[in-house]
Amino acid sequence: MPLQSYIALKSLCEEQMQLEVCDGCDACGLRCASGVPATRAEWEGLEDHLDSLPSSERNAIALVEAQDKTVDLGDGVTVQMCRYRDMEAERCVVYAARPLICRLLGHVEWLPCPIEKVVRPIPTPDALTLMRSYALFERKTFEQWESDGAEQDLSPLNGG
Ligand code: SF4
Ligand code: SF4
Repeated sequence: MPLQSYIALKSLCEEQMQLEVCDGCDACGLRCASGVPATRAEWEGLEDHLDSLPSSERNAIALVEAQDKTVDLGDGVTVQMCRYRDMEAERCVVYAARPLICRLLGHVEWLPCPIEKVVRPIPTPDALTLMRSYALFERKTFEQWESDGAEQDLSPLNGG
């Protein structure tokens, strides 16, 4: 069962993560660029998370989504940040529902913590096995999942 195996692998890796050192830190925030991939389950989990919030919080997140996400890196180079990155507060507004890739940032050998606070990354064999399992799922950006959902919502109107 790919899903059960993935869930077990994810739990195994999460148990080994040094998450406490990330509390209140945003030193790797620049890695929150747009285009983060998510599985359908992650996207639906994120939508469920948003639906569970009081309207005041949902409105606040909508304002974050409307922010200009451009970061000027100098020399004419810019990067677009993730829709859920609060550019003013410098934090993720869907942290509890962020996809796997966001969770692994700073905690795997190939994407280490830039300030070396995470001294014990997930053992690489475990992290690689998790990624191989994760790669079996279809992944799309938040925007692509949203666009798919909008098309499905419209399909009865189109006779589809
Ligand atoms: S991975 Fe490192 S830089 Fe990123 S939040 Fe954790 S401690 Fe901070
Ligand atoms: S979902 Fe959150 S943690 Fe992931 S890239 Fe976006 S802002 Fe960063």
